[in-house]
Amino acid sequence: MHGMTSHSKADDPISRESTRTLDALDRPLHDLRISLLDRCNFRCPYCMPETEFHADYEFLTRAQRLTHDEMLMVARVASGLGVSKIRLTGGEPLLDKKLPELVKGLSGLPGVDDLALTTNATLLAPLAGALADAGLHRVTISLDSLDEDVFRTMSGGRGNLTTVLAGIEAAEKAGLSPIKINVVVERGVNDHTVLDLLEHFRGSGHIVRLIEFMDVGNRNGWRMEQVVPSRELLERVQERWPVTPVGRNYPGEVARRYAYVDGAGEIGFISSVTEAFCGSCSRARLSADGVLYTCLFATQGTDLREPIRNGADDDELGDILSRIWLQRADRYSELRRPDVAEHHALSKVEMYRIGG
Ligand code: SAM
Ligand code: SF4
Ligand code: SF4
Repeated sequence: MHGMTSHSKADDPISRESTRTLDALDRPLHDLRISLLDRCNFRCPYCMPETEFHADYEFLTRAQRLTHDEMLMVARVASGLGVSKIRLTGGEPLLDKKLPELVKGLSGLPGVDDLALTTNATLLAPLAGALADAGLHRVTISLDSLDEDVFRTMSGGRGNLTTVLAGIEAAEKAGLSPIKINVVVERGVNDHTVLDLLEHFRGSGHIVRLIEFMDVGNRNGWRMEQVVPSRELLERVQERWPVTPVGRNYPGEVARRYAYVDGAGEIGFISSVTEAFCGSCSRARLSADGVLYTCLFATQGTDLREPIRNGADDDELGDILSRIWLQRADRYSELRRPDVAEHHALSKVEMYRIGG
């Protein structure tokens, strides 16, 4: 039901179209990823290696982190500029004890038609129902292997497979679907377990997405040799189960989608390293301390916390956001040359700060 008179401006598809903010490369602002906190109960070596994120590491304090009201303000203003998709991430977002309250606030924003959460699912089983009741639409669960030993290694010795699988089951029961399962593939670490994982989820309705190990941040010791190109993985999959390409769900979707020919469902490939997709990238990322980044590989962002704490109202914050987006010209992955060392020496923001 879309009555022109009974809806706010942000909820009206026509005025949303006319208020769409385009960046310097004509890309709209469509998605907002909010990192709730920088802490995590895992130490995945490709994201927060234990050697760097040890007991003495100084994470953000509560005072440094945005409050839920401040996050809601950014989300509300962003939705007025065209954001209709919001993802909550981290660090580990389920470590935020009041998450259902935040979800409730976000799900009530006019214009937001897709509200999702990315989690390692360790704490999901007891919370899935409350999150669904609060208005969360769906979850993406990170799970790199179903081999106990490999999974433990890839979670930095912290993960428990049974708990994660219980989290997936609870999410399914709560209707947080379609559930996506994110698998970061690293050569020589978990690539030999990928087909088993796919087999497990075939026919379940969950969509497994195989992600190329990315050179985000500066702390995960990334090397090109560790990346398994999606092309190679697709060949391995094809040898076992024929698959056929499926069109994108929406412009800006990052995964290349394939369906099993035998009807057992869908898989996706996220090939940020070998096949850049900057041309349609419509995402802004808000770090837990309130810095807005316009690229996953950004070396700097814009602090929103200070203007918010100095009393900026929605219009003022809207002006700041529009200005940032209008100037945006990021396309790191398209320009990246895996063989050029300087690219990796840049002081990039870490993944656990902006949530992938
Ligand atoms: N802790 C939550 C989780 O793991 O789902 C949310 C935050 S985590 C940073 C978000 C996503 O980024 C996860 O799916 C994770 O696998 C992915 N990720 C982290 N580091 C990565 C890397 N170097 N390359 C590719 N994906 C990465
Ligand atoms: Fe934590 Fe997620 Fe990073 Fe793993 S990928 S260390 S679960 S934030
Ligand atoms: Fe978007 Fe930056 Fe990734 Fe390109 S490199 S797709 S601009 S986040």
